[in-house]
Amino acid sequence: MPASQKELDVSESNPLIEEPTFCEVHPSRETSLRCNKCGRLMCADCAVLTPVGYRCRECVRQHEDKFFNASQYDYAIVFAACAALSGLAGAIISAIGFLFLVIIAAFPVGGAVSEVALRLTQRRRGRYSGQIAAAGVVAGGIIGGVIRVYLSYGSAAAELARRAPGRDIPVLPLDTALTTALSDISLLIFIGIVAFTVYGRFRMRI
Ligand SMILES: [Zn+2]
Ligand SMILES: [Zn+2]
Repeated sequence: MPASQKELDVSESNPLIEEPTFCEVHPSRETSLRCNKCGRLMCADCAVLTPVGYRCRECVRQHEDKFFNASQYDYAIVFAACAALSGLAGAIISAIGFLFLVIIAAFPVGGAVSEVALRLTQRRRGRYSGQIAAAGVVAGGIIGGVIRVYLSYGSAAAELARRAPGRDIPVLPLDTALTTALSDISLLIFIGIVAFTVYGRFRMRI
């Protein structure tokens, strides 16, 4: 056997010289990092840093599935509670319409809305609780704003009817009410902050 061939054999069997290894999801990326649970090779993009070390996305997901215990029923309660409370708060807020106050009020309102929704569902959460809670806040807030538009239109119409009896007062069309509600910047900012706060609260791990 020639000397060079022999050297090659030695290098192949030598455990100190490691073969390059690659990410199991991205075969072009060289890595030696392994998931500390299942042992699969993973690149920096695939690795998730957890309190117990680096894990692959699959193991993290499996762990979360054990943690998430919300049912479809809980999702419905979360959506309904967030929509109802945000609707009420949105109607009040758009009646106030004072931007600075709206921003200050939005964070505690978001905290209170999520606390109520969490208590109603015995703090059960699911993978989509954050999104569902935020969607409830947005839907409820817009409906609250529309209701407020109708209430103020109604009182203006009543005032007009009192001053000019017998005059025909048209019913406010829904799309006009919706456009009016959505052009209320302080209401939109309020809904945004509350949705953001609620989403963050539901995404929290503990
Ligand atoms: Zn793993
Ligand atoms: Zn990868």
